[in-house]
Amino acid sequence: MPELPEVETVRRGLTALVKEAIIEKVDLPYPKAVTSDLKAFQQEPVGRTIEAIERRGKYLLFRLSGNETIVSHLRMEGQYSVEPKGSTPHKHTEVIFTLKDDRVLFYNDTRRFGRMTLVKTGDEMTQVSGLKDLGPEPTEETLSLDYMKEIFKKSKRLIKPFLLDQSNIAGLGNIYTDEVLWQTRIHPETTTDKISSQKIRELRENIINEIARATKHHGTTVHSFSNVFGEVGKFQNELDVYGRAGLPCRRCETPLKKIKVAQRGTTFCPKCQKKK
Ligand SMILES: [Zn+2]
Repeated sequence: MPELPEVETVRRGLTALVKEAIIEKVDLPYPKAVTSDLKAFQQEPVGRTIEAIERRGKYLLFRLSGNETIVSHLRMEGQYSVEPKGSTPHKHTEVIFTLKDDRVLFYNDTRRFGRMTLVKTGDEMTQVSGLKDLGPEPTEETLSLDYMKEIFKKSKRLIKPFLLDQSNIAGLGNIYTDEVLWQTRIHPETTTDKISSQKIRELRENIINEIARATKHHGTTVHSFSNVFGEVGKFQNELDVYGRAGLPCRRCETPLKKIKVAQRGTTFCPKCQKKK
């Protein structure tokens, strides 16, 4: 599942390719990909310019002229590709934006979980439930230590599902959560109220740095992620725990262990990340 660095990589690729393009036509080979009114989704964007592609958490926001916004969530395997006009849609192409400049923007999704919604710009915060409840972006400026301490104290949940919950912090998924918990030496089943202020401080720094570093490497490719240019991410080579169960910990050489925490596969070092 694309996490913040992967979605940001897609956003940058889309910006390079289709910013300022004008939409000529919208086709929906798989109408279920669209959750808003289908007729409006096909008619409203026509003739409008893609003025910007923004991102919030794992959501992409296509800002169109005339105050229309298309919100897109890739979920498991959603992908965009830009091809010459007349290109045959892929087997899993769900939405086709024909552009005025003789290109097409395909939205492809082998798992068919990704969703798109058309809203009036500004209404996305009230009409798209996941966006409404989204926590702060994991950056130095937006994720304050005070906020972290407050939500950690209030919740008594296990740290792993707590970090995956987008309403606490936006953008983290299974990969980066396992990485930052290993870096901070926190057992994934620790309850948040048992984590010291010092550890919260370290964890915050690790989250911010890890997301920035992964974004710089164009994200992680595990199953299928590629950017709009069809290029894979490079960060999989930098991972310390995710996908390394059974292999020696890079700090202490103890074999890494994989367990389920809140139904999610979780890899950690049983020596470095002791349960409190
Ligand atoms: Zn270790």
